[in-house]
Amino acid sequence: LGAPAVEALQPDDVRALLPRPSVDAQKYTRGVVGVRAGSGTYPGAALLAVAGANTGLVGMVRYVGPERVADTVRAAHPEVVGNGRVQAWVVGPGGGDDAATMLAEARADDVPVVVDADALRHVTGTLPGCVLTPHAGELAAMLGVERDEVEAAPLEHAREAARRWDCVVVLKGHHTLVAAPDGRVRVTTTGLPWLATAGAGDVLAGLVGALLAAGLEPYDAASVGSWLHGAAATEAAAGGPLTASRVAVHIPQVVRETLAPP
Ligand code: AMP
Ligand code: MG
Repeated sequence: LGAPAVEALQPDDVRALLPRPSVDAQKYTRGVVGVRAGSGTYPGAALLAVAGANTGLVGMVRYVGPERVADTVRAAHPEVVGNGRVQAWVVGPGGGDDAATMLAEARADDVPVVVDADALRHVTGTLPGCVLTPHAGELAAMLGVERDEVEAAPLEHAREAARRWDCVVVLKGHHTLVAAPDGRVRVTTTGLPWLATAGAGDVLAGLVGALLAAGLEPYDAASVGSWLHGAAATEAAAGGPLTASRVAVHIPQVVRETLAPP
């Protein structure tokens, strides 16, 4: 009762919100995003989160993780550098047992954090300015309810979580909901069911982190990221199957088409 209506971003809204370099841009002024993800067991999640972050929307991408994973990340993404100052962190994909440390180290920096996957289990207190990116099962575990309950009332649970942790919550699913602590909610419908595939969420976390580092407000970074991610998936799929790696590859093309519609 009295809650604001759920809004869907339109291409014109996304165009207005997209970061673009000023004529005198330098790589540092465009934003630097850092990724803390991956482990010996799940090296691929680090690669996919970095792929989502490394799509040209920021000036630089940093990766921090186990040396063996870092070697793989650098081999796949030669632009990516090591630890240093960032404007936003992405934490959690494939982090396994290291996820708690990853989150604590990122939080020590006093910059916005995208908290995903294994790191969601280690959220304590409130996280103003941050973005949580759970699917229904992860949000259910965080709230101490059954997955069915979240799936039966996604809007209510996303809103409750945003209020409880005082941050933006991206409840991922068939339609993704982006809830702000003040009760606003945006829905993303640009994706498609073929996106229900391993690693898709890791790419989204990286992309939202890049948009945060580029200077978007958390609510805008989360909803623009979700919109681009779904649109890139739809383009990559072209009506058929897709893999998470392909979603990341299609993000620049979707940005291009959104900036200058064909
Ligand atoms: P994750 O479970 O972390 O890998 O994230 C899954 C990603 O796939 C999220 O971006 C979801 O929104 C998306 N996704 C999952 N299932 C569907 C579906 N049935 N239709 C559209 N997108 C989906
Ligand atoms: Mg995930």
